Amino acid sequence: MDFDFGRAFKAYLDATYGSENKTPTVGRYWPSQLGYCLRRQWFRFRKPKPPRPDSYRYFERGNMFHEWVSYVLSRAPGFRLLSSERSLSIVDYQSDPPFVLDGRLDDFLLVEDQEASRRILIEVKTTERSLSKLEKPDRPHLLQVQPYILSAHADEAYILYLRPNLESKTFRVEYDPVLMEELMQRGKTLDACLRMGVPPVAEGKRDPDLRWECEKRCEYRAECDALELSGGLEEA
Ligand code: SF4
Repeated sequence: MDFDFGRAFKAYLDATYGSENKTPTVGRYWPSQLGYCLRRQWFRFRKPKPPRPDSYRYFERGNMFHEWVSYVLSRAPGFRLLSSERSLSIVDYQSDPPFVLDGRLDDFLLVEDQEASRRILIEVKTTERSLSKLEKPDRPHLLQVQPYILSAHADEAYILYLRPNLESKTFRVEYDPVLMEELMQRGKTLDACLRMGVPPVAEGKRDPDLRWECEKRCEYRAECDALELSGGLEEA
């Protein structure tokens, strides 16, 4: 049989990412997911499915870009790479049962700008969109970064968008308690819907900024459409 890099690559992706594909735990939520359609998140808990076939390639590309930015910043004169991975856990004991924001800062880099003596948190995101049309960070990314800014004790935080041709655009972001509260509330809404067995609102169908999820990514489109037809009340 002739050598087929595609086959080797697929075997590598399955071995690397397949084991990460676990059923999520009710009560523990990832900041990186909470800005997206909550109904899609809800389905992921209730009806876990393997990711779409192309998802692992996107994971791999994201990791490659993250590694590349780490490489650049660890070798750029005047910068020192402090950390490229940290765990995060924020617990709200006021909730019953306690509500946990959980995750790893594996999209993030913590860098020291030695000239200015400041610690900089950088969230790396890949995008295929034209950067000239990207005027502000995506809202899910703004929400995601809030607990990380709190936890990393950084002086400044940025979201860095990278295109496949390595063009980049960087946005400075600030800690915003209103956004942090919104993130927590979204997590609590998802938590309550999961515990009650009631699906959240189909945000992807209602919010123009999230419609791409329905059109391009959602693996639960059929189930979601069936719910809509039944009035959204029938437990999936
Ligand atoms: S089809 Fe759209 S609204 Fe429904 S769960 Fe998927 S992303 Fe959400």
